[in-house]
Amino acid sequence: MADTDKYFLSKKRLLEEQLIPRGIKDKRVLDAFMKINRHNFVPEEYKKFAYDDRPIPIGYGQTISQPYMVAAMSELLLLNNRDTLFEIGTGSGYQAAIASVLCKKVISYEYVKELSEFASKNISKENLINVQVFCGDGLRLLKKYSPVKRLVITAATPDLDDYISEILDETGIAVLPEGDITSQVLVRYIKIYRKIKKETFFGCLFVPLKGKYGF
Ligand code: SAH
Repeated sequence: MADTDKYFLSKKRLLEEQLIPRGIKDKRVLDAFMKINRHNFVPEEYKKFAYDDRPIPIGYGQTISQPYMVAAMSELLLLNNRDTLFEIGTGSGYQAAIASVLCKKVISYEYVKELSEFASKNISKENLINVQVFCGDGLRLLKKYSPVKRLVITAATPDLDDYISEILDETGIAVLPEGDITSQVLVRYIKIYRKIKKETFFGCLFVPLKGKYGF
């Protein structure tokens, strides 16, 4: 079987076995998973596991998140074609690539220089022109764009209520895994004018956030 057919089937199976049965409904999110090639975002030795139901090591003690987690976070962000999404934790670049199909532009920050280079290389394989990757402490650097409308953090964070209330614009949404180093809960902050609403979803396990606001 040609590689393109093999990967098409792997992506289709990922939708049918991992995303749809767990409740991912947004057709735009499902289409993005068919468009973006996850095998372009994992190290060569893990290519054969690229579409499996698990996180995969990408070096430097970091991982590319499990596909379902990427889908759930993407769906919760309620992205549209006019939005710019800020991502903290580029990692492999896969989540940024998925989001780039769902919004106008993605600006993503990665703490580890080598990973920011890995992600940029992966993203260029997909010919995406609306993703920018920067190296540095994301939550610190994000302040210059404040207020932001859409924010996703893909590393475990301590309670960030104050930071998030301050950085989000009047109708902003932020999705992040909040908790301690050993376990977190996926949360969504929605700002409605001055008020902030916080919803909690399911338990999860991410690598810890580094830098000024991290652990
Ligand atoms: N979204 C990624 C997975 C991210 S893993 C993907 O799709 O592959 C979390 C990443 O967050 C790691 O690469 C880690 O280096 C990065 N990170 C941790 N703290 C950070 C910070 N303060 N600023 C930017 N990146 C950070």
